[in-house]
Amino acid sequence: MKFTLAERIKKLPPYLFAEIDRKKQEKIDQGVDVIDLGVGDPDMPTPEPIVEAAKKALEKPENHRYPSYVGMMAFREAVARWYKKRFGVELDPSQEVITLIGSKEGIAHFPLAFVDKGDVVICPDPAYPVYSIGTLFAGGEVYKVPLLEKNNFLPDIDSIPEEVVKRAKIIWINYPNNPTSAKATKDFYKRLVDWAKKNNIIIASDFAYSEIYTGEEKPISILEIEGAKDVVIEFHSLSKTYNMTGWRIGMAVGNRELISALGKVKTNIDSGQFQVVQEAGIVALELGEDVVDGIRKTYKERKKAMIEALESAGLEIYKSDFTFYLWIKVPEGFTSAQFVAKLLDEAGIVCTPGNGFGEYGEGYFRISLTVPTDRLLEAAERISRLKL
Ligand SMILES: *Cc1c(COP(=O)(O)O)cnc(C)c1O
Repeated sequence: MKFTLAERIKKLPPYLFAEIDRKKQEKIDQGVDVIDLGVGDPDMPTPEPIVEAAKKALEKPENHRYPSYVGMMAFREAVARWYKKRFGVELDPSQEVITLIGSKEGIAHFPLAFVDKGDVVICPDPAYPVYSIGTLFAGGEVYKVPLLEKNNFLPDIDSIPEEVVKRAKIIWINYPNNPTSAKATKDFYKRLVDWAKKNNIIIASDFAYSEIYTGEEKPISILEIEGAKDVVIEFHSLSKTYNMTGWRIGMAVGNRELISALGKVKTNIDSGQFQVVQEAGIVALELGEDVVDGIRKTYKERKKAMIEALESAGLEIYKSDFTFYLWIKVPEGFTSAQFVAKLLDEAGIVCTPGNGFGEYGEGYFRISLTVPTDRLLEAAERISRLKL
């Protein structure tokens, strides 16, 4: 047998982390105590009440059957209540909320509902790779709009050529941002909504980090902007807020036509999320703020310690009170890949090179604060001793 891969798989960008993974393993084999600050996967456990709720839900035979395609009404109602309480945004749980099997699932599938051959999707760069991969899988073309530090890592929509705007169906945004940790302003969201309405472009907002803030300011939802619901679908997730990455539970909310179209795609691909996970999700969304405050406090302490260490090593950090990432400039004379290799060689620390998130990430690297605090402090100690 000779198997021929589909073009969409052949055309996937090379896996930039393969080389790092290989080097990491090499170091481990040599007996080096490697600290991996590469992946953004919370190390802390899921809060106890959520786990308990899942155990109870598991005992119920009605939860063992096929769930609803669009999600349990009780979960969608809990999402609507949470959006109302946290952002003041009103959502109709029956038509403006859909359950996802993790938000990545929805992000990857959404373009299938709106993108045909020849259509353009505007994706930020650097970014979570799923926006552009989902576009390519749907047969669309990706237009990359750079996120530059001089613009506080917000896309300059006026820089997008008229010809691209005409063919564009969707623009992806993600604030608080992975990998840069930047936030969006109300003013930016207002201008974006006006522009999208004028040009008939869907705004797809990835809001996975809305609850990961380490200062006083709370991120706002683009749905708080008047009239945003005419053009916005927002993807959210319980993964980062409640340390639930393994559970695979998220939601999309916003414009009912956009939600319904995503539902059509999903109905033909998956059969909904396990109700046990949705019941646990309801408990998560109803937890007191003190639980998530505790999680935020831990990230805040880790961030402070790591910033001190990086600065004493002479590194320049993009300072922000959002996400559990640090976006750091590589020193003069290095590419991202070279500097990340040096950190592994000389300090036994794995980080992600900025160009792994797109060409405009070159010149930076990302550190994730999602390792136990004692390990993070050990990494900080090693970095502060580096001679750069
Ligand atoms: C972690 C993350 C998600 C959420 O992933 P889930 O599939 O919900 O676990 C979405 N977008 C970005 C940018 C992320 O970093």
